[in-house]
Amino acid sequence: MIRVLVWNEYQHERTEPKIAEVYPQGIHNAVADFLRCDDIVVKTATLEDENCGITKEVLAETDVLVWWGHMAHHKVPDEVAYLVRDAVLEGMGAVFLHSAHHSKPFRYLLGTSCNLTWRESGDSEILWVVEPSHPITQGIDRWFRLDHEETYGEPFVIPTPDKLLFIGNYSGGEVFRSGCLYERGNGKIFYFQPGHEAFPTFRVPEVQTVIRNAVRFVAPVNRQVVTCPHVRRITDDEPYVIVKKK
Ligand code: ZN
Repeated sequence: MIRVLVWNEYQHERTEPKIAEVYPQGIHNAVADFLRCDDIVVKTATLEDENCGITKEVLAETDVLVWWGHMAHHKVPDEVAYLVRDAVLEGMGAVFLHSAHHSKPFRYLLGTSCNLTWRESGDSEILWVVEPSHPITQGIDRWFRLDHEETYGEPFVIPTPDKLLFIGNYSGGEVFRSGCLYERGNGKIFYFQPGHEAFPTFRVPEVQTVIRNAVRFVAPVNRQVVTCPHVRRITDDEPYVIVKKK
């Protein structure tokens, strides 16, 4: 089983009636609901939980952390963001959704501002599949359309992705690197742009498919702390050398 923790700041849904109409149980529960399946178990946490619901122990029992945040990035303590960063470096998978491009954990992992251009004008968006044979794009045709999304545009100030899986193209003209895959330490990170709080994007089947695929793909293979030990040279007594002599 893949153990997922869906983290949401859970601010818009509690303070803006229009957003609460779209996600009455919060974005975290909307995402958790479609992720739960035979091979994925899901818990949720929000900014309101003690320590944001993020401790070293919680992360040790989390295979994949899914993160949504927007207006309260600054309320996440640095210590919490560093816990997430360190867990990813050890091998925990992470999926950052939409405005989580500006979240502390994402920026601390990538090391750049992660700034972009944006506009809320109800543009439609076509998401184009760049890598049709990648596990994260399975179940998606050449492209899929979102009737409305917040427009995100280049330049997106990120390190060049290890793999670019989706390019978004908006009716207002912009293009955007909408699906970006990274490895940091032992951990895999996927950034996926759809998911503005004012639109029911997380109810779109293709969006759900991509996020579910991503959770499975970034799940840890070998989770361990890689330290910096001072080591001695290998000798004839090493098992490796004995094997070689045979
Ligand atoms: Zn947004």
